[in-house]
Amino acid sequence: MAHSLSPVFQRAALHEAEIPLAYDREDVAPDQLAEALDRLAADGAGGNITIPHKEAAAALITRCTPAARRVGAVNTFWTEQGALVGHNTDVDGAAAAIRALVPIDATDLSDTPVVLCGAGGSAAATLVALHDLGYRRITIVARTTARAHLLSARLAIPARIVSVDEIDHVVGAAGLVINATPVGLRDDAFPVSVAVLPANCAAFDLVYRPGLTPWIAACRQAGRRAEDGLRMLVEQGAEAFETWFDVPAPREAMWRALHAVPPTYDT
Ligand code: NAP
Repeated sequence: MAHSLSPVFQRAALHEAEIPLAYDREDVAPDQLAEALDRLAADGAGGNITIPHKEAAAALITRCTPAARRVGAVNTFWTEQGALVGHNTDVDGAAAAIRALVPIDATDLSDTPVVLCGAGGSAAATLVALHDLGYRRITIVARTTARAHLLSARLAIPARIVSVDEIDHVVGAAGLVINATPVGLRDDAFPVSVAVLPANCAAFDLVYRPGLTPWIAACRQAGRRAEDGLRMLVEQGAEAFETWFDVPAPREAMWRALHAVPPTYDT
């Protein structure tokens, strides 16, 4: 039930920390999820859960952390007294990626416009991260705007909601634009044209693929601070590792296992 890259960096982390446990991947059909969770609890297991099971797992696991309850999705679990505990580390993963891009500690973000493209599961975690970081002028750009209205209402986070057809009009003043759709995952499409991004606007693409996503490559080419989804992926995994073992995650080893290094930016 783990993301396809999670075994790569979680095994590297276990090896680096000299923890003699195995991290295995298991594909589970949706109608087998409840049975699989029962078996994992009986085994005293810990692990990760990924698409398409995160929301269903939150409904099935009775003991969830406030983070998992708030987002309505479980991506990390462990066993306590024979029962699974569900947690969500995607919010902190998204927050870590945004912090790397935007010098947050020095800035009051409440007045900085941010545009979030997408209204699905990863947009939910990112919306919570944005709100927790202090953003208050949030616009969600969605193909299905009703889904974005439901998301904003469910999380009780106010947002302006516009259709994807209007995206070029809403990014004009943005300080940060985020792609939480699969656009660019299997094609070379951009979620938003680079030409309309203001000069000081940062770009965060939750999508990652070998090399950079075409959008992030084009953003950097045009001089924007821009980051793909690898840091979010590693950070959500690092927080899971720290939750399981209560020791610092060996992030360098995790990045090395992905044959990547975390980007840094001049402040
Ligand atoms: P999801 O729950 O299926 O939601 C996808 C969202 O994108 C929906 O709002 C969907 O709109 C919209 N969308 C799909 N195709 C679109 C298009 N061509 N144009 C405009 N909007 C489109 O998926 P998710 O779990 O949020 O994941 C989205 C992407 O984020 C994934 O592909 C993955 O690459 C990435 N991701 C990265 C991380 C990380 O750690 N870096 C974590 C999770 C996800 P509709 O409602 O109209 O279908």
